[in-house]
Amino acid sequence: MSAPLLRVKELEKRFAVKGGLFSRDREWVHAVDGVTFDLAAGETLGLVGESGCGKSTTGRCILRLIEPSSGEVWFEGKDVTSLDGSELTALRRDMQIIFQDPYASLNPRMTVGAIIGEALTIHRLAKTPREYEERIVHLLETVGLNADHLRRYPHEFSGGQRQRIGIARALAVSPKLIVCDEPVSALDVSIQAQVINLLEDLQGRFGLTYIFIAHDLSVVEHISTRVAVMYLGRIVEIASARDLYTAPKHPYTEALLSAVPIPDPTVKRQRIRLQGEIPSPIRPPSGCRFHTRCPIRVLPLCSTETPPLEQKSTGHWAACHLRG
Ligand code: SF4
Repeated sequence: MSAPLLRVKELEKRFAVKGGLFSRDREWVHAVDGVTFDLAAGETLGLVGESGCGKSTTGRCILRLIEPSSGEVWFEGKDVTSLDGSELTALRRDMQIIFQDPYASLNPRMTVGAIIGEALTIHRLAKTPREYEERIVHLLETVGLNADHLRRYPHEFSGGQRQRIGIARALAVSPKLIVCDEPVSALDVSIQAQVINLLEDLQGRFGLTYIFIAHDLSVVEHISTRVAVMYLGRIVEIASARDLYTAPKHPYTEALLSAVPIPDPTVKRQRIRLQGEIPSPIRPPSGCRFHTRCPIRVLPLCSTETPPLEQKSTGHWAACHLRG
């Protein structure tokens, strides 16, 4: 088997928070806690979980937009966490991000041409002003916009069009990997499918590799090659999209899946409603972190022993004591 494009090993990110109003003691939010996975070139890994589970922080640590606390990130055999200066700038060409909120992620005072062209300038990818403009027009057309949009401002566009501008900005430097950080969560359902179809189309044309972050399993179902489900900073299940959707092993994945609508009205799926809120990542539950909400927990086993992420069948990994 060829080497993966991206290898993430035991990635951790802790954020310090103050203990209390008058306390000098620091407490730590374990936002990402031992995340490990490989990603082959051309694959799409869906990264799914409730808000606060660490999926966006994982994506940002991989790109070094946030510094990881520990762990390893290897991209094309290079240790990303040890790069700096020109090596890190070069890496930023290969690894890009599309943000969730197309309203907040585009500078309202810059024209669309300047927003997309910024990366061309930073990485010196256009030799003349004419080439610069031609490349921007080509990028606009690639994402379904046109040359007339070049001198307009973000507020003149709809949410879906703004997300297309964000995609064109990411594509400007011809990246290999794009972290799509909830790219359709802020969009109307009718527009979501258009943006996902565009991302799939671009993947085919340019051989892109994606990490596609979402809080909802239905969003990543069709675009993902594999899916990883996160809970309180950890991956609790990772498998091919087909295996995960047809035969989930982890009770948390089952609960998320039970909320996904089925297009066939004759098929009924029983909704699994989890009790309580997601616990605080400052003091996560002992043992299996999901035990406070798990409908099939067995005590004291689940509250005292941490289940390792184990291979349950070929390519299908899950962290649960009870599921084989
Ligand atoms: Fe539920 Fe126990 Fe499995 Fe955790 S280890 S998911 S609490 S059954």
